[in-house]
Amino acid sequence: MDLALSAEQTAVRSLARDFVDREVAPHAAAWDRAEAVDRAIVGRLGALGFLGLTVPEEYGGSGGDHLSYVLVTEELGRGDSAVRGILSVSLGLVAKSLVAWGSEEQKREWLPRLCAGEAVGCFGLTEPGTGSDAAHLTTRAERAGSDYLITGAKTFITNGTWADVVLLFARTGPEPGHRGISAFLVPADAPGLTRREIHGKLGLRGQATAELVLDTVRVPGGALVGPAGKGFAVAMSALAKGRMSVAAGCVGIAQACLDAAVAYAGEREQFGRTIAHHQLVQELISDIAVDVDAARLLTWRVADLIERGRPFATESSVAKLYASEAAVRSANNALQVYGGYGYIDEYPVGKLLRDARVMTLYEGTSQIHKLLIGRALTGVSAF
Ligand code: FAD
Repeated sequence: MDLALSAEQTAVRSLARDFVDREVAPHAAAWDRAEAVDRAIVGRLGALGFLGLTVPEEYGGSGGDHLSYVLVTEELGRGDSAVRGILSVSLGLVAKSLVAWGSEEQKREWLPRLCAGEAVGCFGLTEPGTGSDAAHLTTRAERAGSDYLITGAKTFITNGTWADVVLLFARTGPEPGHRGISAFLVPADAPGLTRREIHGKLGLRGQATAELVLDTVRVPGGALVGPAGKGFAVAMSALAKGRMSVAAGCVGIAQACLDAAVAYAGEREQFGRTIAHHQLVQELISDIAVDVDAARLLTWRVADLIERGRPFATESSVAKLYASEAAVRSANNALQVYGGYGYIDEYPVGKLLRDARVMTLYEGTSQIHKLLIGRALTGVSAF
């Protein structure tokens, strides 16, 4: 793998960095307090081509390689994880699944709007009773002539109340576990689908996280994404790449922690000199720096493997596990550098810690990723 970025990759990173510094980072604290990012940001992400990265141009995408996608995601994570998550889900989980599994009609109908930021997608897998154990979800889609009637409930759905379309997973067959699951594309305004925003989150407060309730929601047979009974494969292929996106967002959080800690250590004086002079403060900063580098390299490796058409699922778990734990460690270390001021929301590191905390929980908890990595190494499944 060549670690030198190409001219295109450097340009897209500069574009994202500039956008984040001007239009995201200055508003992140206010959006966090208001519990809503400015919705206009979605249109801006679309106009800059970020929501179409890696999507073919014939469907309204902006093309680009997976490392470009990682670089943009990292910058967004540096500025505001609530904004980064909108892209990771609408592009990373929904649009990319349509590219891989959607019918020509689904691609033509939804991809241009998703890539332009004119529509938002959400990913409905988790249910109140099934989180890590997603293969045992209970939402059902029953055949009614050529249509399906879907009944069930989803929870913790990112973009849930903002979304125009849901990539939804439901049980269509009697087979137990993952074999009876199918994926559907459900318009968010379908009769019988109700949404309620979940408030009181520790972090990612600017992001709309929702519960979805489906009461005999009718969709045509053409709403199936991929073959009937292959929905779990659709979900897992989306999440394998999605974990790279979460890892990239975590690199951004850790980088923001490093930038903040270095700046503060150079300004704050104690014992007659800046705290940067104290060796134990330097230790906190160097621990963050090592985590940033290691998490970034693991994440770039996943992008490189995808580009070369190599298997990447285990490496994606490694990157997500390491980067998410590193983001939490780095935010904790940065808060320590800030001392008591870090505990006050006038300063940036408290939000970084709150936003980092969910990264070890969603798109597979740290425990689940350890089991996935262990299974790949030993050939023995602990599930
Ligand atoms: P549980 O599965 O109940 O786990 C509880 C604890 O038990 C964890 O520590 C877990 O690691 C541990 N555990 C469980 N099983 C095992 C095992 N076999 N071995 C060892 N330990 C185990 N879901 C979506 O579908 N779409 C979204 O857009 C989405 N966005 C989210 C946004 C936020 C802010 C949050 C908080 C969640 C989101 N989720 C989403 C759901 C998320 O993916 C789940 O929360 C996650 O998969 C964990 O499931 P759970 O919360 O039910 O925890």
